[in-house]
Amino acid sequence: MTTTTMTLQEFHDACKAQSVPTLHLAFKCPMCGTVQSAYDLIKAGAGHDFDAVEPYLAFSCVGRFTGAGSYKRGEKPGRGCNWTLGGLFQVHKFAVITPDGKTHPRFELATADEAKRHMEAATTVEAA
Ligand SMILES: [Zn+2]
Repeated sequence: MTTTTMTLQEFHDACKAQSVPTLHLAFKCPMCGTVQSAYDLIKAGAGHDFDAVEPYLAFSCVGRFTGAGSYKRGEKPGRGCNWTLGGLFQVHKFAVITPDGKTHPRFELATADEAKRHMEAATTVEAA
């Protein structure tokens, strides 16, 4: 599997390019394809604010906090799964390289469109 890499600066620029608030920056689980944000992690009970969930963001699937269980082959994205990049098997497709030369596997960024739609869906549910 090929891995895409970005420098930390490129990663920050790519995050900004989503044009959504930090809480709604969206990433995709490499296992189940579910689009997720810090907002989702907070709602799932992973922590009470951005700083608290930041260690899980783009690293552990939101499904780990909702009890979604293992990804089932062929399942549509959305439910989440119990995947984490901290596990034994490395299937990440994307990594950020920090100035110290270390490689940090992360979930891939969603597109700006996906991030916007995901934010709207999340906030619409809340207003309903
Ligand atoms: Zn997942």
